[in-house]
Amino acid sequence: MDRRLTLMAVHAHPDDECLSTGGVLARYAAEGVRTVLVTCTNGEQGDGPGGVKPGEPGHDAAEVARLRLAELRASADHLGIEHVELLGYRDSGMAGWSTNDHPDAFANVPLESAAARLSELMARYRPQVVVTYDETGGSGYGHPDHVQAHRVALAATDLSDIPDKLYYTAIPRSAIKNMAATLRESGIEMDFEPGDDFGTPDELVTTVVDVSAHVDRKLKALQAHASQGENIFPLRMPPQAQQQVFSHEAFIRVRSRVRTPAHEDDLFSGLR
Ligand SMILES: [Zn+2]
Repeated sequence: MDRRLTLMAVHAHPDDECLSTGGVLARYAAEGVRTVLVTCTNGEQGDGPGGVKPGEPGHDAAEVARLRLAELRASADHLGIEHVELLGYRDSGMAGWSTNDHPDAFANVPLESAAARLSELMARYRPQVVVTYDETGGSGYGHPDHVQAHRVALAATDLSDIPDKLYYTAIPRSAIKNMAATLRESGIEMDFEPGDDFGTPDELVTTVVDVSAHVDRKLKALQAHASQGENIFPLRMPPQAQQQVFSHEAFIRVRSRVRTPAHEDDLFSGLR
């Protein structure tokens, strides 16, 4: 293998790089793997300064985008990400918001044009491994921009025919159960009660990567997205619970052109 190992993560908004892939981005960067983050939108529909919610008076989409892209740079520095590529599409907002109807919203962008742009980035960086969300936008999340990121990443993979391996992010149901138990033991109230069907069925998970040595970087990257802090539940967990929850990241291997064990502990298994 004479080309440098390269990992490309395709995400929807500034801050999405942290929770599901912050550990692998930090770990592989530390190992000398080239890491490329593609962020599809500018996150205009996030919280504004002072916690102003989208749709509330004083919420300025352009200002929010500027702030969030600056936070993204800081996050990427903590994770050692070598290249940050911004597609610059407009945040569609959560499913059901009136912003979904904006003609420039990422969810409304023709698949072919966005996929062509991402496919060019794949041709430039030649990642052996690409990570994105599943068809639900990641473990059932359902955000229109996450669903669109999934579609675009899949189409770009087909167009470019470059990645050897394609993965979806996953939150195993067993990990969610363990997290809930840890939080209960620490006396922390959860913001939401995960139902039995929340998360990825464990039998679908092919790959679990130990990123325990990089939990601090992942946390710092998350904290860099301070303007969205209210929406980032794990930031409010006690350190011990964060250490446990963040120590491993799980994935579903969707395609592989190389021989690899059914269950892997390395996204580059079969490529080294
Ligand atoms: Zn997002």
